[in-house]
Amino acid sequence: MSRSENSVAAAEPPHQGCASAQTLTPAAPPAPLTGLALEPRPCATRPAASFRRRFYPGVTAAQWNDWRWQVRNRVTNLTGLARFLRLSPSEERAFSAHSGKLPMGITPYYLSLMDPENPEDPLRRTMVPTWYEAVVSPGESNDPLGEEHDMAAPGLVHRYPDRVLFLATGFCSAYCRYCTRSRMVGGNGHGMARSKSDMERAIAYIEATPSVRDVLISGGDPLTMADDRLEWLLDRLRRIPHVEMLRIGTKTPAVLPQRITKDLVRRLKKYHPLFMSLHFTHPAELTPETAKACARLADAGIPLGSQTVLLAGVNDSVPVMRKLMQGLLQMRVRPYYLYQCDPIAGSGHFRTPVSRGLEMIQGLRGHTTGYAVPTFVIDAPGGGGKVALYPEAVIGRQGGDLLLKNYAGETYSYPDQGGEWGPAAC
Ligand SMILES: *Cc1c(COP(=O)(O)O)cnc(C)c1O
Ligand code: SF4
Repeated sequence: MSRSENSVAAAEPPHQGCASAQTLTPAAPPAPLTGLALEPRPCATRPAASFRRRFYPGVTAAQWNDWRWQVRNRVTNLTGLARFLRLSPSEERAFSAHSGKLPMGITPYYLSLMDPENPEDPLRRTMVPTWYEAVVSPGESNDPLGEEHDMAAPGLVHRYPDRVLFLATGFCSAYCRYCTRSRMVGGNGHGMARSKSDMERAIAYIEATPSVRDVLISGGDPLTMADDRLEWLLDRLRRIPHVEMLRIGTKTPAVLPQRITKDLVRRLKKYHPLFMSLHFTHPAELTPETAKACARLADAGIPLGSQTVLLAGVNDSVPVMRKLMQGLLQMRVRPYYLYQCDPIAGSGHFRTPVSRGLEMIQGLRGHTTGYAVPTFVIDAPGGGGKVALYPEAVIGRQGGDLLLKNYAGETYSYPDQGGEWGPAAC
């Protein structure tokens, strides 16, 4: 995943002194949140330390906190997983029926956050395969976003006029079952800039294309690359005069926070302006380890944005989403995008109706800090790019007035002199 944030330093809200909004309905006390879906499940998180002592008795805290140890000891098969979790029939069957597309990989750290007894545990659902993955629903495909079609060079997607997506590695330290790029991550297929010569070709394209002012490095997860290789890439891109900004899209602070070492941030901060988009799914990910990783990145002056995929039964309720977004702000991560789950083959069990995403935005906007409200987007199948969706706020016109609905569902009118926009009131 990828994508970043640039309004972290936005100004105060514009002056609201026009005083022309009039209440059409009698003032009511602020309505409580309505339309709540599931209450948040209590997350049975166990502190990583007791998990380590129980399952890795010979392993020291220093080893556990070494990101390379975490990567080396990823759990990648059924036998490994069964040591930690009591598997459901659906999870077990996934391994016998597994088509071999997206491998499983979970860091011991991330595993320590999952409930061993409950297959519906939100983090567990995002990482442990189930047999539902074998079910391909109508409209699903392996490359729903048509990224192959927009490849300008190996691993380089040039879709928008002024920015490119640089797929720098196919590796992630943990694989999300709903991954949009499952066709190419985890050692699958093609489409990544895997070798240095691939990267050279992608860099040469950017050098020769002056319209590219923003390079978004993603994958796979670019922060799984070794420091030297990552720095080599940042350095090469930074030398291109027309590249104004760099971004990195990563899930590392959630699944492998140990990777955010002092040395890494010391290197990263040489390539400003460098933004980061951090992939988060659920408030159970907001641990002390992740807080420390985000603090290091923020202290290095890296503006942090978040991206979240809306997932059925995982984070598609307003209380869960609000907790996640508010928790991210506490870690100085500004919510950026909330994605409708892409129609990737075998992801139907994760997909919500589009209306659920709009409910999330409606449940946040006005009810909490504006910074906590992400933009809900659908990545248009076939390569149309991201399309933002907003809950309806203009409900009609009455004479010269525009009728607006506020966050509490009350109607206000705004004297839009000479304006024509908006539907006629019925
Ligand atoms: C998401 C994306 C970008 C970045 O989009 P922003 O809205 O600027 O964050 C660029 N290229 C591709 C192909 C993308 O999918
Ligand atoms: S971290 Fe991103 S690229 Fe890696 S599996 Fe998850 S969604 Fe896919």
